Amino acid sequence: MTQKTKIIATLGPASESEKILESLISAGTSVFRFNLKHNNLEWHTNLARRLKAIAKKLNKNIALLADLQGPELRIGILPNNVDKIVLSEGQEVVLSEKEETQTTWIPFPSISSVKNLSTGHSIFIDDGKVELEVVSIKPGKIITVVKQGGGLGSQKSVSIPQATIDIPTLMPKDKEDIKFAIKEDFEFIALSFVRDGTDIATLRSFIKKYGGNQAIIAKIETLKSIENMDEIVKESDGIMVARGDLGVEVPIEKVPRIQKELILASRTHFKPVIVATQMLLSMVNNPTPSRAEVADIANSVFDKTDALMLSEETAMGLHPVKAVNTMSKIARYNEMHEFVDDLILKPTSFEEIVISASIKFSRQTPDGEENIKGYIIFTESGKSARVLSRFRPPLPIYAFSSHPSVIRKLALSYGVVANHMTLHKNPVNNIKQALKILQKNKSINKGDKLISIFGNNVGVPEANNTISIVSAT
Ligand code: PGA
Ligand code: MN
Repeated sequence: MTQKTKIIATLGPASESEKILESLISAGTSVFRFNLKHNNLEWHTNLARRLKAIAKKLNKNIALLADLQGPELRIGILPNNVDKIVLSEGQEVVLSEKEETQTTWIPFPSISSVKNLSTGHSIFIDDGKVELEVVSIKPGKIITVVKQGGGLGSQKSVSIPQATIDIPTLMPKDKEDIKFAIKEDFEFIALSFVRDGTDIATLRSFIKKYGGNQAIIAKIETLKSIENMDEIVKESDGIMVARGDLGVEVPIEKVPRIQKELILASRTHFKPVIVATQMLLSMVNNPTPSRAEVADIANSVFDKTDALMLSEETAMGLHPVKAVNTMSKIARYNEMHEFVDDLILKPTSFEEIVISASIKFSRQTPDGEENIKGYIIFTESGKSARVLSRFRPPLPIYAFSSHPSVIRKLALSYGVVANHMTLHKNPVNNIKQALKILQKNKSINKGDKLISIFGNNVGVPEANNTISIVSAT
């Protein structure tokens, strides 16, 4: 079977030899990324020409991608010739162009490009290792307090996600790099730190002006680019989920969901999409991947990305070819064994039918799901709670059992909050008591409505046969 998911390998000192380039192509690399942030144009020109010659010799089709450095904010050189300053939480720090002597000063030459900054905004330095919070803004200076401290060196990257960064789309260096990519007949040009569709249009007209027709890849790695996702996907010829910088600009837990949204948006407009960064980071040093990396690649395949990208792994790692082989193996297996998450869970007993019906019931109740606060279910063995849990309902499942060991084991089940309660013979009394316990431990408030699932024969296994709406009084 041919591999469907494409692999992009970033070139660097670890992959510039003839032998490695040949192996990377043979291992299934489709696109080679020239990271123009590093090395000079002479190095890139030489490598591009050699790479094309090798591909021709091997009779393989490959494409070349020039990745522009793009507009980046950086702090300046630290005063007094120090390598590093150590910032601690709560400390006041001033960012300004002109020296400050009264307080801790970080030189910030590009301060005039920062627009629409407000107090409370976060400023991330050195890929988010240090976080400052804006306390006040004075002419020519930003006064901040350290939220996350640490050591800080000169000229580190700065990201201010909520502000508007007023710098041109293309820096002088980018313009030279574009001319290089046109001259060397690259297929793709990737633009870093894209903010909106205008950035793409600007790049496109520059390429055209110099006689190129390269396809444009928009690197999605700023908060602004997430807000303008649709217009960027429409304007560009493909996008990259640039998870490295993106994980600094947006809270890191949002990145996987954004990945899914971007893949869907790209597919909607039939543009290719690349998932990038840290996919096999541990293989920079190790010959085998971490289990989490394997899962990440497989999940990106399940998300149906067009391509997966390697960065340091092939540019400066110890095992560039192994990294491509590993990525290829994971991609191929998981493309063939597609995961259908729309599992049809067939009820196999009357109780299971009742429990599955309770979910429909909670969704379609006249009160509306937003007014229902959860489910109450009585479970001697834990099974009834687990049956409800397997449907992954969006509301909490308040399970009640007489057995402490059953309660403890429900700690592992999705959505289940288990409580101890001595079950009575009369189900109505059980519901009353359950509501009282939930109110007492502040899980619910007076007047809240819940769906209760119970049986007339308390204590008899699998006897749940009744669904009702109950209110806390
Ligand atoms: P970079 O882009 O490697 O050029 O920074 C990718 C990313 O930020 O994830
Ligand atoms: Mn980046």
